[in-house]
Amino acid sequence: MLRNCFSLIFLLWLWIGSSPASAILLSIDESTTTPLNLTPWLMVAHPVSANNLADIQALPKNNWHSFTNADIQKLSGHDFWLNFSLTSPDKIISHILALDNPLLDKITIYHLVDNSLINTTIMGDVFPYSERPFLSNIFLYPFKITMDETHTFYLHIQTEGNAAVPLNLWSSNDLAKIAESTAVEHGFQLGILAAIGVFSLFIAFASGSFSYSYYSGYVLSMTLLVATINGFAFRYLWPDWPVLQQIMVPFLLPVVMAFALMFTEKILQLKYLNRRMLVICRYSAVYILCVGLASPFMHYGNALYIEIISVAVLSLVLMIFAIIQAINGHKLARMYTIGWMSMLTGTCISSLLYLNVIELNVKPQTPVMLGLTFEIIFMSLVLAIRYNDERKSKIRIQQEALKQAQKIRSAREEALKAEAESNEKLEKMVQERTLELEITLRELHDVNQKLTEQSTIDSLTGVKNRSAFDKRLIAESRISRRQETPIALLMLDIDRFKSINDQHGHLAGDQALRTIAQTLQQNLKRPTDFISRFGGEEFAIILPNTAAEGAIQVAESIREAIAAIRFEWEGKLIPLSISIGVSVDIITHEQHGTELLEQADKALYQAKNGGRNQVRLYSPASN
Ligand code: GH3
Ligand code: MG
Ligand code: MG
Repeated sequence: MLRNCFSLIFLLWLWIGSSPASAILLSIDESTTTPLNLTPWLMVAHPVSANNLADIQALPKNNWHSFTNADIQKLSGHDFWLNFSLTSPDKIISHILALDNPLLDKITIYHLVDNSLINTTIMGDVFPYSERPFLSNIFLYPFKITMDETHTFYLHIQTEGNAAVPLNLWSSNDLAKIAESTAVEHGFQLGILAAIGVFSLFIAFASGSFSYSYYSGYVLSMTLLVATINGFAFRYLWPDWPVLQQIMVPFLLPVVMAFALMFTEKILQLKYLNRRMLVICRYSAVYILCVGLASPFMHYGNALYIEIISVAVLSLVLMIFAIIQAINGHKLARMYTIGWMSMLTGTCISSLLYLNVIELNVKPQTPVMLGLTFEIIFMSLVLAIRYNDERKSKIRIQQEALKQAQKIRSAREEALKAEAESNEKLEKMVQERTLELEITLRELHDVNQKLTEQSTIDSLTGVKNRSAFDKRLIAESRISRRQETPIALLMLDIDRFKSINDQHGHLAGDQALRTIAQTLQQNLKRPTDFISRFGGEEFAIILPNTAAEGAIQVAESIREAIAAIRFEWEGKLIPLSISIGVSVDIITHEQHGTELLEQADKALYQAKNGGRNQVRLYSPASN
């Protein structure tokens, strides 16, 4: 049972020998209370080579001695013989021999009645479970004893590792009763452990928490280890795999320890509180796991020896870590210490009970199981507190982050608002400035237009000036050329104007110029007709889209109108007349406009020569 394994930790350095006793014939009757521990009646022999009953019966008496713990002390391979004899004064009674170490590899029982062999039975966990004579997780051998018979038993034990042989004699009734309650007790213990393990596994999956996964790993592997040591795992999980039964204990023990190391690291928060302890925990976990993985390839006894030493040392190290952290004021470390301490205390008490150092009215394995159960329940409480603490701090951090985010958002909103306001202001300002600029521009444009207009006007007469005439002539020439329409030019020169100046003064001359200009304007009907002061007392008129006939008509009417003016200066009537030269053509090339002007001038010259106050049309023939 479990005590066997845990007590080995102490067996390594603690051995309490019992005084040798000589073989006594055990007498039992119906009043004998069972279970009866057969250890005081056991004789043991370690023959170098004895493979059958004949060999062992031939062994000299002095090779036998009373069984003591020293006979099973070592952890390596065991090969020894046990012997005891029973007798009964009563009539038939049924009894069962119980060897309560499910991990024994091979047990050969030779049953002799009055020195003749009546039965040989072989059992052990290297054989499939179904081959046992009595289906139980521990090894049982039933037999009947009749009045005055002497029953002698030789037990050949061959096993690796723990060779404890807690041999008890039961009456059939008592065993049946106790078997039932033991099964319930074990089932209850394993049930609690498995339930906590599975529950933690669910929490680990649901929360993604490493601490819970390690913890569930610890509890589940511990449950499996307990079930293996109890023989339940072999009975229910792998009855046909004795090979598995041989490697499970040395494999599971390191796995349990590795998980213990990992979840301790989480609970003590070594990552944040003590890096050195963290590193030790992690390296130890890797080391112990490697030992576990290597164990199937190692000698069973050596593997178990290394593992038990390692587990003892590491448990102690964890205890020290927890105590240091507890002293440093870590709340969870204090609780962890209590949990871990309870298990170690349970283990110690169990070991001491097993070694008969102390006596209590409980089974030796009970304290360690109680300690373990308490530790596991307590650790789940510690984990729950840790989880809750973490959750609270997470919520706090979230709330703070939320607050910060809100602050940032409101600051951003304010900034945006300010920006929008300033944008609006800026836009308004820009609009105002643009409006002002537009007004100024419009005014400037108006002034410019006026200026341009003024620059095209002759200040004395109010008609267009020479430069305006030149531009208009180019424009109208292009239209004529494009549309192939005739354009007419009239060159007008006031007759004998010099003499007006001479006789009546320049002011009279200016006034005469103004009067003539007015008359010219009044005689031009089409809006496209263009009149300008060409220079001195000469005027030039453009008549777009006008043929020779029309042009002469217009020139004639102008001449008549001017001749009809009654121009008075200082009470004196001054006669006015004008000579007009006309030229008409459809413009065909770039210089044609200028040529047309020269032709009009020539016609004017002819008009002057012809006696003045007349109109002349330019004709190339008369030139
Ligand atoms: P005709 O043309 O008939 O041959 O004789 P005319 O006396 O008009 O001769 P001409 O064309 O050579 O005379 C031009 C004169 O016109 C010279 C100048 O005294 C006068 N004149 C030119 N511009 C102005 C002006 O702006 N104001 C005044 N008062 N006289 C001007
Ligand atoms: Mg002139
Ligand atoms: Mg003149």
